[in-house]
Amino acid sequence: MNFIDHAKIYVKAGDGGRGHVSFRREKGVPKGGPDGGSGGNGGNVIFQTDPQLSTLLDFHYKRVYKAKDGGPGEKYNCTGRSAEDLIIKVPCGTLIKEILTDDLVADLVEPYESAIVARSGRGGRGNSEFCTPTNQAPRYADEGTPGQELEVKLELKLIADVGLVGFPNAGKSTLISVISAAKPKIADYPFTTLIPNLGIVQIGDHMNYTVADIPGLIEGASDGKGLGIQFLRHVERTKLLIFLLDATSEDVKSDFKILKNELKKFNPKILKKQIIICISKVDCLDPTQYKKLMKTKFTTDKIEPMMISAVANMNIQELKMKVWNLISQPKVS
Ligand code: GDP
Ligand code: MG
Repeated sequence: MNFIDHAKIYVKAGDGGRGHVSFRREKGVPKGGPDGGSGGNGGNVIFQTDPQLSTLLDFHYKRVYKAKDGGPGEKYNCTGRSAEDLIIKVPCGTLIKEILTDDLVADLVEPYESAIVARSGRGGRGNSEFCTPTNQAPRYADEGTPGQELEVKLELKLIADVGLVGFPNAGKSTLISVISAAKPKIADYPFTTLIPNLGIVQIGDHMNYTVADIPGLIEGASDGKGLGIQFLRHVERTKLLIFLLDATSEDVKSDFKILKNELKKFNPKILKKQIIICISKVDCLDPTQYKKLMKTKFTTDKIEPMMISAVANMNIQELKMKVWNLISQPKVS
């Protein structure tokens, strides 16, 4: 698995075509009026997500993207040709920032979401547009305006297939360390601070998925801090959420409610995802407590919690398979 996740490119929208200066010359008409047409508009540079793409690899090979300029105006009041927009395809989850200012230009999450990143120049007016009762033979026309150009940084927010939600100390890091076969390189990753833990779970030779804990989600969640919200849009791209609840907590059921409400406050849509309720550290329970927790009804559809222990390796394999089975099936809703 490859995590090519950023690229720097230069984009330039097309310039507007220049307006034309000309005068009608017809047999028998000694002094024809101005007939220079206006220039055409240049093409915009538009970024659009394509769900087929998953990396920014292409941008390491081609770094300069220019939309075409508008054509110049012509004689006989002909307007110049307008140029087509240049559409650059990027994977879902791509952020586009202007390098100079570090401003966020676009944050493209949904499939086929698009944004104009460099605006085209407009065509200049031809001399016929300048004709007035007092100046019937203007000898000038406008230049077209230049298309915007900028250097942008593309960053792909890589989001795991599975999000792990839980309070601090619930055992998220420990769980990731026992279920994951490999650690992707996340040192260069722009959201390292938000995803301190990311693991690849390998099942057999060809089946794998990524799991990440979601710290930004809970902390600073309710006060709607910028990053929290921005991050949440991307969390929607996870296929499944595991709620990890600490078996040794005073009230496990209430922990679940708090977590759920926190998510709901952000975006109720997130709770429409498939979820697994997982109780961690069950090695710490005596048989009576174990039974009681196992029978707890956390949701109205009465899904049973999975009782796991990362330390004692209980039900870990089962959890890995259960996740795989859920995320590899198309969701029936
Ligand atoms: P996180 O904050 O959710 O990432 O939690 P950690 O993975 O850092 O674990 C918090 C504490 O719980 C650590 O002291 C772990 O050793 C302990 N812990 C994690 N999983 C288990 C488990 O399955 N059984 C027991 N007994 N302790 C665990
Ligand atoms: Mg941790």
